[in-house]
Amino acid sequence: MAGTIAIKNGYVYDPLNEVDGEVMDIFIKNGKVVTELSASEMKDAKEIDAKGKTVMPGGVDSHSHVAGAKVNTGRMMRPEDHYKFYQQKTPIAHSGCGYSVPSVYLGGYEYSKMGYTTVFEAAVPPMEARHTHEEMRSTPMLDMGGYLVLGNNWFLMRYLKEGDTEKAAAYISWMMKTHKTYGIKCVNPAGVENWGWGENVSGLKEANIHFEITPEEIIKGLTEVNEQLGIPMPVHLHANNLGHPGCWEVTRDSLKIPKSVKAKPNQDVEWAETKMKAQRHESVYLTHCQFNAFGGTSWRDFESGVKGITDYVNSNDHVVMDSGCIPFGDATVMTGDGPAIHDLYKLTGNKWSNTDVECECGSGVLPFTYLKSNPIHSVQWAMGLEVLLYVNDAWKSIMTTDSPNGGPFIKYPQVIAWLMSNKARQDTFEECHKWASDRSGLAAETREMTLSEIAILTRANAARTIGLAHRKGTLAVGADGDVAIYNLDPKKLEVNDYEGIVRSFQNAAYTVKGGEVVAQDGEIVAIPEKNTFYSDIAIKADSEKEMLKDVKSWFKYYTIGFNNYPTSEKYLANPTPIKVNAER
Ligand SMILES: [Zn+2]
Repeated sequence: MAGTIAIKNGYVYDPLNEVDGEVMDIFIKNGKVVTELSASEMKDAKEIDAKGKTVMPGGVDSHSHVAGAKVNTGRMMRPEDHYKFYQQKTPIAHSGCGYSVPSVYLGGYEYSKMGYTTVFEAAVPPMEARHTHEEMRSTPMLDMGGYLVLGNNWFLMRYLKEGDTEKAAAYISWMMKTHKTYGIKCVNPAGVENWGWGENVSGLKEANIHFEITPEEIIKGLTEVNEQLGIPMPVHLHANNLGHPGCWEVTRDSLKIPKSVKAKPNQDVEWAETKMKAQRHESVYLTHCQFNAFGGTSWRDFESGVKGITDYVNSNDHVVMDSGCIPFGDATVMTGDGPAIHDLYKLTGNKWSNTDVECECGSGVLPFTYLKSNPIHSVQWAMGLEVLLYVNDAWKSIMTTDSPNGGPFIKYPQVIAWLMSNKARQDTFEECHKWASDRSGLAAETREMTLSEIAILTRANAARTIGLAHRKGTLAVGADGDVAIYNLDPKKLEVNDYEGIVRSFQNAAYTVKGGEVVAQDGEIVAIPEKNTFYSDIAIKADSEKEMLKDVKSWFKYYTIGFNNYPTSEKYLANPTPIKVNAER
């Protein structure tokens, strides 16, 4: 029977269901988790003996750059990235190459080998949505979705400046449906628009050119409309001044703006039977905190500013964030924050690409290498880990490398080892520039994360934060049958042997997707069906009509016609709309 499997005797870590390392059997029938299988169903089911192994829900990445125009620009810019990391064709798998920006096939396989089953593309420019969907459709193994870049969108800046939240809401709901995207991404609000004039903004109250709207007004407006619409995930914020010494203060002040906005996710879905509440309560998701947490006033007195942010997050409940860790080595920096990448270009002289996506957003791309010998990079390494270790409640954070910005996602097992093992961190300090210990607090931090906390950071909280915990990030009855089984015996776990931790998380013993074994010990053994999630948000027909009059009249400034703008469902693999705000 397809998608039916019994996983027996493993140590199960399912935080949303309050299961912490208990020996349990997991049963999956027709792709969904069930309480048990009948005797006759067991006869046809595949059975895995997970004795002495760690069992977790399939990994969920809530912030990664894997598909679309700027990822493809990164691939085209980096032939040197291709030849050192490649995979040959197998009877079922395509060949592929690319270390920090892998081809779509290789990206899907590599995530799956690590036990991941769900990945969200963190930035979809509206005009590039078709391209992004084409690449997501071609990415094997993974359920996917994307966040629409809206922080510097001309229509939204105008509506928000005029205080017309009704039209802003109508525009966002229409844009999500039109581009088949899932949530709102806001990059350097007000600043990316100024970059069109070679400028940026530096403070939250600085109005931008022409639109005369401030970052504060954009953050406030977008977070309010996000909740008015009931979007599954909080506004996904890449704060202003990213990558500049001293930016942590602007970041902390940005997080204060939506403090009074109440989270009201309102998706009409069937919920898995988790013991914990599976809906988010945060009104803002700060992304890749490390890059937003620079301290000091210049590169000379550069230091970690992480504590200023984590102190705020520890004492407030409306913020969730991902880390943007730096595992050292080759990376490709890519973001909608064009001015930030330009500054990095001035600093490094590396090859650089910049794109303006008409009236909507922009992006920059630049190859980058993080070196242990470099003072700044070594502090950044420490900062990424501080972000996760200083937040007391793991349910407020998510582990990422902002792949491929901090480093490629294939380095996640290394990051897990640093989080679980103080010895791993101390040994890395030995190899690092001394600024790593002098300019951060990490050397004195002795916390070692548990497997349960790792499960929160890499699947449970990622799924809960983006509003997918009704089916992802848990093994509760009714959830998707996505499971990662690792060669790691928690009873024999020795965190000083951190190389063993890296090996265990690098190649899952089994990756199960929808009840089918898809990867085994680092080999792809089946190519499963995949789903593409997007938000289908209900709104009053009248306000949509009024709003569309504005959009159509402005389309004379676009290089494509209005009718060529929408992304139809045919660009998506198994389009899976999430009905939002349905009863209104
Ligand atoms: Zn990112």
